[in-house]
Amino acid sequence: MSAKLIDGKAIAAELRQSLKQQVTERTAAGKAAPGLAVVLVGDSAASAVYVRNKRKACAEIGIESFAYDLPDSTGQSELIALIDELNGRDDIDGILVQLPLPKHIDDDTVLDRIRADKDVDGFHPENIGKLLQRRPTLRPCTPWGSIDLLKSTGEDLTGMHAVIVGASSIVGRPMALELLLIGVTPTICHSRSGDLERYVREADIVIAAVGIPEFVKGSWIKPGAIIIDVGINRTDDGKLVGDVEFEAASQRAGWITPVPGGVGPMTVAKLMQNAITTADRPNQ
Ligand code: NAD
Repeated sequence: MSAKLIDGKAIAAELRQSLKQQVTERTAAGKAAPGLAVVLVGDSAASAVYVRNKRKACAEIGIESFAYDLPDSTGQSELIALIDELNGRDDIDGILVQLPLPKHIDDDTVLDRIRADKDVDGFHPENIGKLLQRRPTLRPCTPWGSIDLLKSTGEDLTGMHAVIVGASSIVGRPMALELLLIGVTPTICHSRSGDLERYVREADIVIAAVGIPEFVKGSWIKPGAIIIDVGINRTDDGKLVGDVEFEAASQRAGWITPVPGGVGPMTVAKLMQNAITTADRPNQ
């Protein structure tokens, strides 16, 4: 078997196009363009690339992005003060703080400070809680985008068993909640699950979000399974690879996302969708 490719790049481009249309209609109706503050702390090259892509997407769609590039030496209280200022500004609808933050800053303290209705990443406890309660509002972008990719296959996903490899708060855990919303049965594996192969062999859907290059072996894949590879890893020779052995897995899977060009572009497009949602918050 040779897997069909799930073209995240094309699916994300289509979504951005429809979001651009939405923004055009907003502004034509006399409303302001959505405003998104993008906060980058420190000089991580990877974070700079992610932020550049997000700002580029804003420009394409017509979302006004406000850049806050802060030095690595920025203190936590300084960053909190900026968040407080952005929380109070009417021209800023959404706030994005690029992770990871420098080690001397606590991610949770900062993310909790962002007003829930300006939380474009969907990481605020209130937004995660709403997703858990089956009334999603601002949703974590990577899991939400992965659902679009699964649906794009046209397969009947209801009742399928999904194995998620990785239990992080930004990917693995909210992924399970998103899968429940579409009638899929999720299993979440983590660093202490042991014998991972045993789980993956049973999976109709594999979501790999572990952050280890080619960790999920092609030989583990159930024939015909759908594979969503969230991992983005740079090898020593500068190549980007996912968390799944792509070539070997492609021989067995029914569908597979490439890296790059799979989940990554969807994450950015979903961020844009959330940014538009924040502009419609009730007190506007
Ligand atoms: P993380 O490091 O926060 O979490 C990794 C998870 O993997 C943890 O829950 C850990 O328990 C689990 N794990 C570690 N070793 C394991 C093992 N041996 N067996 C089973 N589970 C194990 O990572 P993250 O932030 O969730 O990111 C995961 C990957 O996804 C990274 O490569 C990251 O770059 C990528 N990512 C991509 C996007 C995107 O838009 N495509 C977005 C976010 C993250």
